[in-house]
Amino acid sequence: MRAIAGTSYVPMDSGEIEDFLLALTDKLVLAFTVVPFDSTEPYQVGRALVRAHFTGTETLGRTIAVLGEHLLAQAEREPSGDGRGNGNGTGAELKSRLAAVQGALAAGFAAALRERTLDEQEAIRDAVLLARDDAERALQQSEARFRALFEKAAVGIAIADIDGHILNANEALAGMLRCPAEELVSCRITDFLHPDDAVSVRAAYTQMSRSERDHFRSEKRLVGRDGMPVWTYVAASLIRDGGGVPRYTVAMFEDVTDRHQLHVRLRYQAMHDPLTGLPNRALFAERLREVLANAGPRTRIGLCYLDLDGFKVVNDSLGHDAGDELLVTVSRRLDASVSQAGHLVARMGGDEFVILVEGSTGNEQVITLADQVLDGLAEPVRVRGHQLSVSASMGIVERPVATASAAELLQAADITLYWAKSEGRGRWALFDAERNARQITRHTLSAMMPAALERDEFVVDYQPLVSLPGGALIGVEALVRWHHPDYGLIMPDRFVELAEETGLIVPLGRHVLARACGQARAWRAAAGDAAPFVSVNLAVRQCRDPGLVSDVARILEETGLDPRWLQLEITESAIMGTDDEALAALRTLASMGLRIAIDDFGTGYSNLAYLRQLPVHGLKIAGSFVEGLRADSDTAVDTQIVATLVSLAHALDLAVTAEGVETRAQAHRLESLGCDAGQGWLFARPGPPERITAMLAAGGSLLPPLDALG
Ligand code: C2E
Ligand code: CA
Ligand code: CA
Repeated sequence: MRAIAGTSYVPMDSGEIEDFLLALTDKLVLAFTVVPFDSTEPYQVGRALVRAHFTGTETLGRTIAVLGEHLLAQAEREPSGDGRGNGNGTGAELKSRLAAVQGALAAGFAAALRERTLDEQEAIRDAVLLARDDAERALQQSEARFRALFEKAAVGIAIADIDGHILNANEALAGMLRCPAEELVSCRITDFLHPDDAVSVRAAYTQMSRSERDHFRSEKRLVGRDGMPVWTYVAASLIRDGGGVPRYTVAMFEDVTDRHQLHVRLRYQAMHDPLTGLPNRALFAERLREVLANAGPRTRIGLCYLDLDGFKVVNDSLGHDAGDELLVTVSRRLDASVSQAGHLVARMGGDEFVILVEGSTGNEQVITLADQVLDGLAEPVRVRGHQLSVSASMGIVERPVATASAAELLQAADITLYWAKSEGRGRWALFDAERNARQITRHTLSAMMPAALERDEFVVDYQPLVSLPGGALIGVEALVRWHHPDYGLIMPDRFVELAEETGLIVPLGRHVLARACGQARAWRAAAGDAAPFVSVNLAVRQCRDPGLVSDVARILEETGLDPRWLQLEITESAIMGTDDEALAALRTLASMGLRIAIDDFGTGYSNLAYLRQLPVHGLKIAGSFVEGLRADSDTAVDTQIVATLVSLAHALDLAVTAEGVETRAQAHRLESLGCDAGQGWLFARPGPPERITAMLAAGGSLLPPLDALG
């Protein structure tokens, strides 16, 4: 191993080389000793060396030398019987054996090496032959290959001069254009373009002819001689000569009509409702976006959002298939009345449809359309043996595009649809910005209220109740106001109802009651028995609140107000039809010593007989009756009503207060009809508690002197 290491490059590590050489050495040793001598093994060892790439120039020589040194030395050291069967060998015999082994090995080595060299030569010669043939054939072939490629290509190819005149067109292109290839020559490529695409392609060619660009790719329509459009994917390139000067253009057209049609079909599926075939929400949204994006400054747009009335009932009672049938019929009718006029009608999902009126001319146009559509739906529909009458509600928005975003339009249409539904079905409603503003404010207001209560933004004003006749201050009505930091003063008619809806009226009412009682207590402390009682409004929801009695009791306790200086105003609707518990609560309150008055009397049930059973002490006649009072006529209806109310109330031992007294004449009339008290601007407007305090200090009548009023 040491002798031949480094003489050849072999792909083995030293351990592998050692194993390999040891095995060969064993074979040689055996061949050296075996009788009779057999050259096969040493010959094979020689070949094995070559096979293992021990083919370096010195490898064989060194191997032979090593054999000479070692085998002979070994044999001479062990001249006789060592059990390995060569006991009788003489020196001469051993030398000739050694030579035989060496010779056989060398022969094997040489033979193997020659074979290998021959193989290699063969391979090289083949390669050379091949290379020469290739070079000869290449030119021919490239020409032929080009011809074949050009003629038989599946893509249409046109080679044109720099001005776009066709020099050469292949069969595929001729097929696409349904025109013989020869006839294409000297035509211009752009002559076969669809008019919509011609401009852009011509521009690209012009750029190429000016060397401004080398390629362009795009999907373009060609039009065949027979007028049929062919969708193609065009790749055009500029060919320059060796000097870089533009010479030709080559355009390749791949027929992608199938792909295009598939795309169109898939797009159609994605953009249409499978049940009715109408455009779907996605298509509508896309169209709306386009309209909004491309609108001029004065363009208008109309939207009708339509929803079938009672569709759910059909679905639930007759089944989904019947529901589907109904939808299909409705869609056909919509399509008939709307699409003909050129408007888009889309199904937005469920039983909702939308009509898009592009470039509308104003409300009238869209309203006319809406009427037509609703009329068209009115005719009964037969579904599975059932005669169904269909109606729909519709929200209409019509406005200049400039003031609208898609989301706003849809939201406006949606709100308006809701209005139409709530105003009774089978009708349209037109969007009204002011109404919407009011509604948005309602929503915002109710959301803001809880925090406002916490921040103490609610304050209480007081309006005098005066005795009739005389005009002495006997009581005050507590009226809540909301001082909003941003929106300013908000009056109760804007938020009390909302607070009732959300339930916030309960804590808000408690707050007002506590304020009013505290204030009344303060006046009592200052003016003693001359102080006015406070009259506090109780909302319906408060009357039904189980905590009412304990709340009132606690507040009276905390403020230290004598219950006789507190009056609660409740409306007729709060006591009519209430359960026994609510009535019991009122009775408990009355038994505590405070008074209960019926507010806005005459506007509700006005069941005086029922009032007898209630713990009520007074009536407040609604301002609307007072408005109709005239000094000069005893026969006016309102005068008679007030007269009747007063006498009945007195028969029931109830005190009567007239609200909304604005004129002296009204005050006179009320006096003469026997009203016990009055409230209204004639005496005083509601105001902060300091104003009442000042009146108390001044004393006297709140009835203005006659001459002051003129
Ligand atoms: P209401 O209980 O009928 O209160 C009388 C309303 O008439 C007050 O309106 C008052 O400002 C107004 N008024 C007074 N004198 C005249 C007059 O001569 N002419 C006219 N045209 N109006 C007059 P306000 O303060 O806006 O209160 C409106 C309603 O809000 C009240 O009607 C009452 O139902 C409710 N409200 C006010 N404060 C409270 C409260 O603390 N709790 C509850 N539950 N409701 C309240
Ligand atoms: Ca009231
Ligand atoms: Ca009232």
